[in-house]
Amino acid sequence: MSEPIAPRGLVLAVEDEPELLEMLVFNLEKAGYEVVTATTGQQALQQARSHTPNLILLDVMLPGLSGTEVAGRLRSNPATSAIPIVMLTAKAEEADELVGLTAGADDYITKPYSMKVLTARMEAVLRRGQQTNPAANETAPLRFGLVEIDTELHEARAGGELLKLTLTEFKLLESLAKAKGKVLSRATLMAEALGPGVMVTQRTIDVHITAVRRKLGKRGSIVQTVRGVGYRLVLSLDPSKSG
Ligand code: CA
Repeated sequence: MSEPIAPRGLVLAVEDEPELLEMLVFNLEKAGYEVVTATTGQQALQQARSHTPNLILLDVMLPGLSGTEVAGRLRSNPATSAIPIVMLTAKAEEADELVGLTAGADDYITKPYSMKVLTARMEAVLRRGQQTNPAANETAPLRFGLVEIDTELHEARAGGELLKLTLTEFKLLESLAKAKGKVLSRATLMAEALGPGVMVTQRTIDVHITAVRRKLGKRGSIVQTVRGVGYRLVLSLDPSKSG
């Protein structure tokens, strides 16, 4: 059985022109992203709140609430303020580019854009986000790629979906998310998930990891085995290397 390809992250694509949105979704999914969509500013705000995507692609010219207004509202809400935003602007909207940036966009791209350029910019913004996240306040959920851990509520989500984990599985995923891509040995994972002094075989950890992967479903391959060392959580998998 081949391992499913882990998504690169969850993207909210906001675009009111159906053909453009369709093309965007098609290409983003092909590039390995999971995509949720919105066609109006109001819908964008709702989608951002209910899915907390890793990145938002936001068209400037939207009916009703404009993209720049949406960006401003997302930034002023603590629940969505940390989500990176890439604005999509038409050439005629050059003035809006600056407005978009002051409203809190992380980057912008001018239409018509090539998907290669767009995904490269997205990757850059996502990387920057990973570096600045530790500065976020302590009560904010812990995030790494698709995984979001709320230690206070004791909830773990992947791509916005609540995971039904046992306590041990939750602690394992939490440890891996905290390590932010660093490899953790089985001994370290045992100590963190089961507490010091609990003697189990290393095989026990493998069994728990297998359970975590199963519960992650199609996203299971974000938990990567590093042969001879242990496990790590990956932000994205190179589709060419998975199989
Ligand atoms: Ca538009």
